[in-house]
Amino acid sequence: MPSRLASSVLLAVVTLATASHSAKIANDYDQPSSAWYQPDDHPVHALFKRGHVAVDATMSYPEVGSAQWRAGYPAAEAPTETLPKAWVDRLNAAVTAGKIPNIPQSILTQGVAPTYPEGYDPNNSTVCSSTYKCITPGDIWDAPTGKLALSFDDGPLPASTALLQFLAKNKQKATHFFIGTNILNNPQVFKTAFNDNKDDIAVHTWTHPYMTSKSNEQVLGELGWTMEIIHNSTGGRIPKYWRPPYGDSDMRVRAIAKEVFGLTTVIWNQDTNDWSLSEPVPLTTSTEIHANMTQWLTGPKTPGLVILEHELSNASVQSFIDAYPMMTSNKWNVVSLAALDGGASYQNAYDSSAPVAAANVGDLNVKAPAAPASSSTTQASKPSGTTAGKPKAAQRNGGSYNEPVTFVSVGVTLFSVLLGIYSL
Ligand SMILES: [Zn+2]
Repeated sequence: MPSRLASSVLLAVVTLATASHSAKIANDYDQPSSAWYQPDDHPVHALFKRGHVAVDATMSYPEVGSAQWRAGYPAAEAPTETLPKAWVDRLNAAVTAGKIPNIPQSILTQGVAPTYPEGYDPNNSTVCSSTYKCITPGDIWDAPTGKLALSFDDGPLPASTALLQFLAKNKQKATHFFIGTNILNNPQVFKTAFNDNKDDIAVHTWTHPYMTSKSNEQVLGELGWTMEIIHNSTGGRIPKYWRPPYGDSDMRVRAIAKEVFGLTTVIWNQDTNDWSLSEPVPLTTSTEIHANMTQWLTGPKTPGLVILEHELSNASVQSFIDAYPMMTSNKWNVVSLAALDGGASYQNAYDSSAPVAAANVGDLNVKAPAAPASSSTTQASKPSGTTAGKPKAAQRNGGSYNEPVTFVSVGVTLFSVLLGIYSL
């Protein structure tokens, strides 16, 4: 009996310790997350050395916002002639190895989605444009059951301050897909997000273009300079995630992101259109966003939610603040986007058409799910939108953006329905 009693006590202690450990991981707001950046031994670090030897008390990076920190970045779109050699060499090696699909740049026309030259179908697996809702394994569109992945695009901007204050007050972590030139122009807001809120930082390109319309070298500059400024502003950390402006990526662009920079492409499965609230003619209203949020947040928990939201204007930030109580009252597990996939605590689906397996927070034994037997890319329709955006140059500091362009693809929808590989 004593031994059974001892076993019971031991079991209770272990259970308590485990519960305490899990609670600590789930709720320790002050603990910075490592889910959003690459481990120290990741090879991509070789591309961002810039003479730094190590990050410690004696070898620090320039103060964010200082003249030294500011030096060396392109003011606007990066000229391809002056790209760092290490980046170009890595790109050329990937092209030579056949890892970057040789598909043409898309063509931009005002008012419609990017198109491709004749013979290149954006819906097939060769091109697989995310603007046309073509999904390829490895991209993130959905969250696991019951999780709501919090992320905000287009900062850092003056409107970010109210968002960051709200997040801090609610001890809520989020992932910020920052625009490189906005970091350059709003260093204090960046510092609040990273140093004070300890939020996740991710890549939203240097100047916010339609990435499929850019050459390989231009894509390199848009991603590389944004990674560089994040690296130099976070003590040498290198982000793992990027979200294409307007959700516009394809097999060529996502391959450059992954093969050269180790970046995972992130899209979304619900869109607020909140970016347009600050437009002269908005596509939506705060009332409409609230109605959409109510529908999504009281709806099914599978798949989990990846909602596209922006820290672009006071109105877009307010639409999140208004919806946040519903996220918690409807029992969503609200986490930063990077914590979904990059944290060992969570298990994600292999891709958006595969089943999602729930995992316990703090369970470090969770293994990545096995890949489907077929390695071919799959296509599936996403919740369809009918918004036609028009290409427009990015504007910094409170400028407006058209995001995203979403289209109904009847062919893809039928394909998906027939295969039964996706439903919402
Ligand atoms: Zn954006």
